[in-house]
Parts: sequence; C-alpha cells; structure tokens
Amino acid sequence: MKNVSATVGLILNEPLLWEKGQKGRRGMDVPAADVPPAGIDAGLIGEGPDFPDLSEVDVIRHYTRLSQWNFGVDTGMYPLGSCTMKYNPKINDTVAATPEIAASHPMLPDALCQGTLKIMYELQDYLAAVTGLDAVSLQPAAGAHGELTGMLIFAAYHKSRGFRRTKILIPDTAHGTNPASAALCGLQPVPVPSGPDGMLDPEAVARLMDEQTAGIMVTNPNTLGLFEENIIRIAGIVHDAGGLVYGDGANMNAVMGVADLKRCGVDIVHLNLHKTFSTPHGGGGPGAGPVCVVEALRKFLPVPRVVRDKRGYRLDGNCPDSVGRIHAFHGNFGILVRAYSYIRCMGAENLHRASQLAVLNANYIKEKLKGELHLPYDRPCMHECVFSDLWQHAYKVSTLDMAKRLMDFGYHPPTIYFPLVVGGAIMIEPTETESKADIDRFIEAFCEIVREAKEEPEILHGAPHLCKVKRLDETAAARHPCLTGC
Ligand SMILES: *Cc1c(COP(=O)(O)O)cnc(C)c1O
Repeated sequence: MKNVSATVGLILNEPLLWEKGQKGRRGMDVPAADVPPAGIDAGLIGEGPDFPDLSEVDVIRHYTRLSQWNFGVDTGMYPLGSCTMKYNPKINDTVAATPEIAASHPMLPDALCQGTLKIMYELQDYLAAVTGLDAVSLQPAAGAHGELTGMLIFAAYHKSRGFRRTKILIPDTAHGTNPASAALCGLQPVPVPSGPDGMLDPEAVARLMDEQTAGIMVTNPNTLGLFEENIIRIAGIVHDAGGLVYGDGANMNAVMGVADLKRCGVDIVHLNLHKTFSTPHGGGGPGAGPVCVVEALRKFLPVPRVVRDKRGYRLDGNCPDSVGRIHAFHGNFGILVRAYSYIRCMGAENLHRASQLAVLNANYIKEKLKGELHLPYDRPCMHECVFSDLWQHAYKVSTLDMAKRLMDFGYHPPTIYFPLVVGGAIMIEPTETESKADIDRFIEAFCEIVREAKEEPEILHGAPHLCKVKRLDETAAARHPCLTGC
C-alpha cells in the first residue's frame, strides 16, 4: 500500500508521575510567605498523599506524550457508525471561548445576559427548522438524556388525558439507549421485529399497538443506515391507537433539510449536537441532546425555557404542565454555543449539502466494498453502511480481527457487532468531512485487510501490531480493571 497515513514512527513511552518524580524538582518558585503560617493543627489534616516532585518540563512532556497515545477526529478518519464522528471546525471553539460568552455567569439576571439568551433562543428556532417541529428544549445533556425527557413527556401527555400507559414499542434495530430510557420511566419495552429488508413493518406495529401502549420509539434513519420508508403509515397506526411517536434523531446527519419529521408523523425527536452539529464528542465530555416537539406537546417541555417578549429575551419557569427541570441552569451552554456557531457558519443550504455528501460518501464505500465484504442489506443507504464478516468465517477471521488490523493502517475502527440484527456487524459512517482521496485510502486499506484475511490470516489474529497497546484481553480489562497503570 502506498500513502498509508500513520502508525509508523515515534511513540514515546511514559511512566506514571509517581515513578517519574525526583525529590527536590520544582515546577515553579513560590515567594516566601510574609505572614506567619495560620495555626492549623496538622493533626486535623492528617497525612496527605506523597505527591511527586516534578519540573515544568516533566509535566508538559508527561501530558503531551499521553495525549499522543490517543486518537481523535483531528488525528484521522474515525468511521464509527451511529456516532457521526465528523470534523469539528475550530471556529466553533473560538466562538465559545469569546470572553463575553465564556465568562457569562449562569445566575446573571435576564436583563444582563440578553446576548446569551438570544443565542439559545435562536438555536431553538434553528433546531425547530431543521426538524420541522414546533418547540425545543435545549436542556438535555446527551441523546439518552433527550430520550428520557421524551419519555417523561409521553407519560405527562397520557396522564393529562387521564390514562396511564405502561408499554412502549421499540424496533429490534433500535439503539440500546432507547429501551433503557423507556424502562427508566417505568415503560416496558416491547420489541418489534424488523422485516427481511431491514425496514419496520407497519403490520407488525399494528399487531402490537394497543390501549396500554404509550407509543413507539423509532430511529430514522435506522441503525442499519436505512430510511424507514413506512414511517408515515406507522405513525398513523400509532396515533389512531392514541399513542405518540418518538423519533430518535441521533442520525439526523443523513436528513438535515431533506426530511421534515413533523410530516413523517414524529411528535418528539432528540438531536445529538455532539454528532450532527459538530460539537466535541466522546471522552465523557459534555454533550447536548435537545428535544423538539409538536405544538400540542410544547406545554410539557422542561423549564425554564427561553422566550421572547416586548422587553427582550427571558427565562420562563412558569409552566404548570412542564415535566420540570432536567439539567442545572441552561444545559451544557458551551456546547450550545458551538452548535449555534456551526449552524450560522453553514447556513441552511450547506446543512442540506452536508447531509447529501454524508449519504454520498457512505454509498460510495458501500459500493466499493460490497465485493469484498458481505453486505446483508444491499440497497441504497443513508449516512452509514453495515457489512458483516460472513465471508471471512472460512478463514477463521472475525470482525474484531479486521477492526483491530485497521488500526495498523492508521484508522479508528468502525462500530462493530452493532446493530445486533446483523451477526458480526461492521458499521461504517464516513461523514461528509472526509475527502474522496481519504475515503479511497480507507477503502484500499480495507481491501488489503480482506486480502490478508484470505492469504495470511495470522496477521489479523495478532493485530494490531504497530499500535502502542496491542490486542487487549477485553474481558479481563472490564472485569479486573487496573487503574494504577500496572
Ligand atoms: C448516539 C446515539 C444515541 C445516544 O446518544 P448519547 O449522546 O450517547 O446518549 C441514541 N440513539 C442513537 C441512534 C445514537 O446513535
């Protein structure tokens, strides 16, 4: 292979700070105190940890080296299906770091933070426009948190009509967070099998939908990367039986400005700003999962809400039907600013184009790799395509082996073994931010791995070979985590 992007070169080892420290080293000099020490009884504080002594250069090298063991979208292509690991433009961080925005205190009175309230108000409007729905809460901190908010709204809606419904329909292609969020709200998930074409079957929904069922949670496009073509009929069936339709909009990157979710029959949808709207993602950092609803559900949205009247923007907490507050202050405000900056930089036309390119890139990979890897659902896909390792079974090579080997070629592995309806799934989502040349290199790497699987499978069994950390015992790593770096 020519032009392999990474993994040969300098990866520096780095011990723990405790091993590295040397008595007497110092990072900075603190001037001698010119007042007598406060009379704190040492016995009250007790023995502190024996912190290592380190110089400034020790510390800088330590953290810089550790940062180089990591992989992120700024390092290379990260085709993690269902996660939309697109490049996050740096302008978003710059805007969020503007002192007037970053230093604005969450307890400022409305009159003193009209600018930050305006950002939130306009972001609500933009997200309503992108989904086609009517009202938005920016509070939820993640996709799953948005789902939980949505399920609270389902419950509040049914309660307001005098019923308590106990079940919820969830397709077998759903993201694992869907049944978990529903169960947290006391709803019993009822799985709906998808059809042989990977689509949700309206007949199956009609059979399961009854007076005890609060509604359905549908991921669209679904986790096979396919658009649920029967969504309007399915929504009709659910509405006729008094239920609501929850849309899991984590995959909105495929349909921004293309599909109007309200016209699809969706009543509530969450968006993942840390996926579709280009805010940082993963590493346990803050995210945001705003929830958009149709007019009839507006009154149930969390409080406080940003509203606008003659005097300007203000936070409104006076909403008696609200499900209440679900995040401190205003949600993850710094993330909201990044998404706002992204949407303002792109404009409606370019958001639409981003979705078109995301879909084009995924279909390009699907067509180029479908002679190499088994493609269980051979039809046009949306933002991602799902293969399996069926053809590699003959060489005793698995999805895990191929995913690990990709790291030797400098790529983050795709999502594997998900969705569960495909055995040995390999779910590839390139996003719109990869160039054709980069996607071609990725395809070339995958073709090379498929060739190795046939001719030199032992290479794959031992992969990765070039990474800092080799093949982990993943079970032991989960069962006996060693947190001291041993
Ligand atoms: C990522 C994702 C979620 C969960 O979002 P988090 O922000 O990780 O909680 C839910 N559904 C789908 C389809 C997703 O891809």
